[in-house]
Amino acid sequence: MTKTVNLFIKPSQPALAIRDRIVEFLQPHGFRISPVYLDDADYNVVIGGDGTFLHAVHKSSFSTIPFCGINTGTLGFFQESDLQTLDKNLKKLVEGNYHVDKLLLVEAEIETSSWTYHRWCVNEFSVQSSKRKTVHFTLSVDNIPLLHLAGDGLIVSTPSGSTAYNLSSGGSILYQTLKGYQVTPLNQLRSKTYEALPSSIVLPSSAETVVSFPPDEKDKAILVTDGMEEHFLGLKKISFRQTDKIIHRILFNSNWYWYNLKDKLIGS
Ligand code: NAD
Repeated sequence: MTKTVNLFIKPSQPALAIRDRIVEFLQPHGFRISPVYLDDADYNVVIGGDGTFLHAVHKSSFSTIPFCGINTGTLGFFQESDLQTLDKNLKKLVEGNYHVDKLLLVEAEIETSSWTYHRWCVNEFSVQSSKRKTVHFTLSVDNIPLLHLAGDGLIVSTPSGSTAYNLSSGGSILYQTLKGYQVTPLNQLRSKTYEALPSSIVLPSSAETVVSFPPDEKDKAILVTDGMEEHFLGLKKISFRQTDKIIHRILFNSNWYWYNLKDKLIGS
């Protein structure tokens, strides 16, 4: 039976060369390669770095078709394959010799004075000051106001995003398919005047985290979703929760998570 692959490519010479090799390898095995997104395809193949992977997931509106990443970037944390392993892994793809893992996303409900918006992230949301000034907000969990915080803002990261901005900001690494999410403060002000979180918090998937802003801060904060910045005017509060929305990722080696951590993060 013909299988269809949606291709997402970073516009770079190495990525285009890999595209040609994929087409040469898969077409003789009866695969159809589509440069545009088809929602009845069998695979989403993304050639590039982590930024390309994140962009492909957003561009496909969090497609439920499994993603297979091929790294041409420097780190490539989402991608198991690269130029060296490409042929071996394409053969496994043709044979159906792979696992699919599920990466849970986090949703943000953004309430402004005029509208309520919804966004989803693969890595993280970060709430930050738009004016390079201190941002003040209240952090509540499950309707309980925990703290009034001030500083650069905070990060709400998924388990698979925990190794990105979250880790650089002092958060912990969470196993990629774990249920739950993490809240990590960004450069909190520390003095008698301000409350502060002593560390990041790991929450269960059922928890709702709310960041609410006093009226005089309503136009000060921005929301950054997987690196994409948005300014919501009249911002009142942002509620974060883990939903059932997931993306699927193809893995050719079931122990790859640990090799990936060792090779790309902790072994360096
Ligand atoms: P990008 O693609 O250049 O990514 C920035 C760096 O983050 C790259 O080295 C990338 O390999 C790495 N990265 C991305 N996702 C990762 C993950 N899940 N685990 C480990 N490393 C990961 O830039 P972009 O297109 O703007 O990507 C957006 C991402 O950049 C954001 O989601 C955020 O996590 C990351 N970022 C990190 C910092 C920081 O660490 N100080 C600051 C801003 C943004």
